[in-house]
Amino acid sequence: MTVVMREPAAGGRFGEFGGRYVPESLVPACLALEQAFRDAWADPAFRQELDGHRRTYAGRPTALTAARNLSAELGITLLLKREDLAHTGSHKINNVLGQALLARRMGKTRLIAETGAGQHGVATATAAALFGLRATVYMGARDIERQALNVFRMNLLGAEVIPVTSGSRTLKDATNEAMRAWVSAVEDTHFCLGSVAGPHPYPWMVREFQRVIGDEARGQVAAELSTGVPDVVVACVGGGSNAAGTFAGFADTGARLIGVEAAGGAAVSAGEPGVLHGSRSLVLQDRHGQVAEAHSIAAGLDYPGVGPEHAQLSGLGRARYVTVTDDEVLAAVRRLAEREGIICALESAHAVAWVLRAAGTAELPAGSTVLLTLSGRGDKDMSQLMEGLR
Ligand SMILES: *Cc1c(COP(=O)(O)O)cnc(C)c1O
Repeated sequence: MTVVMREPAAGGRFGEFGGRYVPESLVPACLALEQAFRDAWADPAFRQELDGHRRTYAGRPTALTAARNLSAELGITLLLKREDLAHTGSHKINNVLGQALLARRMGKTRLIAETGAGQHGVATATAAALFGLRATVYMGARDIERQALNVFRMNLLGAEVIPVTSGSRTLKDATNEAMRAWVSAVEDTHFCLGSVAGPHPYPWMVREFQRVIGDEARGQVAAELSTGVPDVVVACVGGGSNAAGTFAGFADTGARLIGVEAAGGAAVSAGEPGVLHGSRSLVLQDRHGQVAEAHSIAAGLDYPGVGPEHAQLSGLGRARYVTVTDDEVLAAVRRLAEREGIICALESAHAVAWVLRAAGTAELPAGSTVLLTLSGRGDKDMSQLMEGLR
């Protein structure tokens, strides 16, 4: 069996995926970042400081909740890892706290970030405020219109939001722009990338900062289940950071790993190998090999690419990737809310929707035990839910 979810091979390779496809001017910055992360991650003092902020600021460890009512209805045992309870409302804070501390350790005074729905931008602005760093967030002009509340939040936190008017004016274009801005400001600026995508070391580094989800869950699940390990571990996949962090805690077990993509943003399920934002992975493309636009009700899953490690896990058959539709997602939000009193993010509801569909079938037979990462809370989605669930 191939050992997975360890350190990538030289140059950041996850099998045939990953790597570092950046302009020559960015190579030194990527190398310096890799070295800085390597040193920091091996330094107990860095780990201790990060742990302290996780506990006293982000609200970790997040709870593991047994979804008793839904479990009874579905004939399974469903355990929820509650990243919705983390500060700023999702798992994004785990990554951002790590990168902000690392930036400070490298002597950088400014963070730049890309954001789609604005969740990663809000988390970055939050960490920048906490650590006294300046923050600039690149956001597609179309997303700025759609996500006015998060734009206001970022401004309130003292960040500058820069509208990106190129291309489809969404996350893909904001990421291009943020990478361009990094080239011209590497001296004092760290690029705080929001998922397990981008050039090496980002996919590895972000997975390591997010593995706190899986590591905590491993211990919490062991206390809950006589088998110690769940039959199935499931999480939603946009770029793939909450799934990677969750899977990392269970990669060495017999648990089946399931990543749930949006039907309109299914890079693993429907993409082709290609290079996007500095790494080789699976990418949604049109007939001419142009990067296609993704469409999902969940802005956080509206990304035509996916982290390279997921492409590897899929190719090896270690994890399986499935899709659910927007309608299934809306129904899942409602069912979880009514049965468990938890209003989750539209992104997270993708994982819930798969469980609802699979329970009682050969995919998830009666009696199965399931760990599901609830990546975020639904507060940000209220106006969309009012539209969709009328
Ligand atoms: C951003 C976001 C996602 C998607 O990002 P991943 O890197 O795939 O985890 C999922 N859920 C929530 C709540 C998000 O904010």
